[in-house]
Amino acid sequence: MPKIVIIGAGIVGCSLADELTERGYCDIVVVEKGKLWNPGGSTSHAPGVVFQTNGSRTMAQFAKQTVEKLSNLQHTGETCFLKVGSLEIATTPERLADLHRRAGFAVQVGINARVISPDEALQLHPLLDRDKMLGALYVTDDGIARAKQADEVMGKRAISRGAQFISDCEVLAIDQQDGRVNAVQTTQGSFPADIIVSCAGIWGPKIGAMVGMSKSIQPLAHQLCYTAPMPELASYKTEAELPVLRHQGSDLYFKQRGHSLAVGWYGHRPLPVRAEDILPCDIAELMPSQMPFTPEEWKGAMEHATEVIPALKNARITESMNGLFSFTVDNFPLMGEWSGLKGFWVAEAVWITHGCGVARAMAEWIVNGHPTLAVHECDVNRFEAHQLGSQHIEERGAQNYVEVYDLLHPLQPMESPRPIRTTGFYLRQQELGGFFLEASGYERPQWYEANAGLLSRYKSPRRDEWSSKFWSPIIGAEALSVRDAVGLFDITTLKRIEVIGKGALEFLERLTTGNLRKKPGSITYCLLLNERAGIMSDITVMRRGEHDFFIGVNSNIDINYLKQSAPDTVHVKDITAGTVGLGLFGPKSRELAQSLTRDNISNEALGYFKLKNTYLGHVPVMLCRLSYVGELGYEIYTSADFALKLWDTLWQAGKKYGLIAAGRGAFNSMRLEKGYRSYGVDMTSEHNPHEAGLSFAVRKGGGYKGAETFNAINRDTLNKRLVCLVLESPEHVVLGKEPVMRQGNVVGYVTSAYFGHTIGKQLAYAWVPAELSKEGSKLSIRYFNCDYPAIVGQDPQFDPQMTRLRS
Ligand SMILES: Cc1cc2nc3c(=O)[nH]c(=O)nc-3n(C[C@H](O)[C@H](O)[C@H](O)COP(=O)(O)OP(=O)(O)OC[C@H]3O[C@@H](n4cnc5c(N)ncnc54)[C@H](O)[C@@H]3O)c2cc1C
Repeated sequence: MPKIVIIGAGIVGCSLADELTERGYCDIVVVEKGKLWNPGGSTSHAPGVVFQTNGSRTMAQFAKQTVEKLSNLQHTGETCFLKVGSLEIATTPERLADLHRRAGFAVQVGINARVISPDEALQLHPLLDRDKMLGALYVTDDGIARAKQADEVMGKRAISRGAQFISDCEVLAIDQQDGRVNAVQTTQGSFPADIIVSCAGIWGPKIGAMVGMSKSIQPLAHQLCYTAPMPELASYKTEAELPVLRHQGSDLYFKQRGHSLAVGWYGHRPLPVRAEDILPCDIAELMPSQMPFTPEEWKGAMEHATEVIPALKNARITESMNGLFSFTVDNFPLMGEWSGLKGFWVAEAVWITHGCGVARAMAEWIVNGHPTLAVHECDVNRFEAHQLGSQHIEERGAQNYVEVYDLLHPLQPMESPRPIRTTGFYLRQQELGGFFLEASGYERPQWYEANAGLLSRYKSPRRDEWSSKFWSPIIGAEALSVRDAVGLFDITTLKRIEVIGKGALEFLERLTTGNLRKKPGSITYCLLLNERAGIMSDITVMRRGEHDFFIGVNSNIDINYLKQSAPDTVHVKDITAGTVGLGLFGPKSRELAQSLTRDNISNEALGYFKLKNTYLGHVPVMLCRLSYVGELGYEIYTSADFALKLWDTLWQAGKKYGLIAAGRGAFNSMRLEKGYRSYGVDMTSEHNPHEAGLSFAVRKGGGYKGAETFNAINRDTLNKRLVCLVLESPEHVVLGKEPVMRQGNVVGYVTSAYFGHTIGKQLAYAWVPAELSKEGSKLSIRYFNCDYPAIVGQDPQFDPQMTRLRS
């Protein structure tokens, strides 16, 4: 049984101790620098308002689990969750429309949500101004977490199972030995530890610094006030009966506290605070996580609040605070074991809303090696190097505070700080009028204005206002032009590693599902599975030599995982930044590439899924015969210093073949027509290869992680499947993350959705129950408040015989 030290007794630390002890991991010490059960962290003063709806399925499920858990906890005979429901109100047509979209996020994970009329909203919350509202999103099971009380109940339950909680015990240092944690040094002495879990909330960066870890966390002050008792609330008898309320259009939220209202406000300028500057318990006026109230930032809050709750006009504010809590660069928490130090785990930047769900996933991760829910969005090892710099963390954290309630399009990138990273082709892409979005910090063209001339030849169907944001009909023209001739795609932003050294083959065979015992020069698409046969990633392995592999991976999580697992003789190196990649895809790609090399690259000499080191003009390249868009074509890699020369060489020679530069929009449309899945969107660790339609990527036999479970799966008894839905009307555009419906009931959810320009149909890949996954099954997709009919179609829709790719 490992010795575990948890740092911090806020909602996360207490809940984690509870979850671990429930699983039999009872050798636990929770060290807390404050006093139990009100230690002075964010949990100690937060109003505990819980809105479960979230664009991320994982976050919504964390919230759902938190509500379920807290609802079942009793503190001195009273529940730890007041299920008063929630209202998010809309005062503009745009917000009203968005509430329908948000209802879709909720219902697809089983959260009971619907958009209601102003009259119904008024009935639920009589203080609202009916005439200001156009409607509201009503979530029946939202409410108020009594987090402090819950901490005590969970903490005491953990203690009853053997855990120790020590207050007034501040962690000062972390001891390490042989690359592992060894002990925590505190004001009350040293505690040995095999595993340390930092649940230190806003102090997370300070604990991180003790082990040399930069955490992408920015503590920010947030304003919250309570009114004096209001006569309008005098008739209420209990702590809270009114639904909690959000008016995102004015950056406000509200909750009832007996006869008072709490008013929270995100409309002020961001107020970042460094973790080192947070006052210690004995000096802080109220508690360390509360800064003195700054009335100048509050200006405007009550005027906006009064617009929707007129009774606030006469209300007096009697309590006010600038409370501190954490924001991250991408709005997701930090979870998991840090790759920089074995045994050092983190669960931070977590709202109360998600606290118990996060703790459960952490406990499963520690005990079983993997959580039940897909947590790649939250993995502490996901960050790019630039996301760990203090300037970036502060700027993006602050911007995320500003945008916390903004109505954001799924494709909307941050406007600043940009550009952060550019690929070696950026100059040329700018010259061609690239419309750039951001990927891993890189500027990546979505389409090129220079291709506007193609519109006279290639048409796309019209789109509604929402789906035409960050979109252009040029995307369709680029896709069609590539299918007719040839296109150049910048694929540099996809990550690449080298795995080199004696034993590399055996190592990769152990971790991946691929049949890699092929000659150097071969390429294999395969998967990384966990023990449960859940898909951890999909990767493309290029065998360059006997002990030399070049691998296209999905994220830093993959890279860290492979690095951690590699034996001493095998070197795993991230070569993304030092290299560039171009996709040369389309029926004319071979003629074009052949015109630049003296090597024979005919189908016989360089077949499908084969690679060759050669020169294109003066540029040394690795030419890989594969394409993610379902066309004859090549992924071409070279070192970053040759980037412009490579682009220019292909560009010059390409004129003759109708070469265009094509953006990510065309790429995505084409890959979906071909049924190519995107990891993290179409499949995650919650899915096995059979369900995801990827069993072809798993070798027969065993010897790889997850094999035992995978081989025991009965394909005839799967309960869910990823299917290709074809919408009845080409003008019905969906964007992804919508619920899939059948006879008015939610039966699944959309992953990727794009218009297939070659086939002239709108496609949406979706997870549905196996019994509805047969071709011809009639379903619908709920887009805002419309149900679009769709039918399960052939997967893939484009070139199922692979003639294009293999010819
Ligand atoms: C004003 C305000 C309103 C909010 N409203 C909501 C809301 O309505 N809904 C919602 O979901 N969330 C809300 N939040 C956010 C939420 O409160 C926090 O995200 C959450 O409480 C964090 O929980 P935690 O357990 O991670 O951290 P904390 O509760 O801060 O606990 C961390 C603990 O670690 C201890 N610690 C730190 N360093 C050390 C050390 N070196 N040694 C020992 N112990 C240490 C601290 O003393 C602290 O007790 C709000 C936050 C604020 C400030």
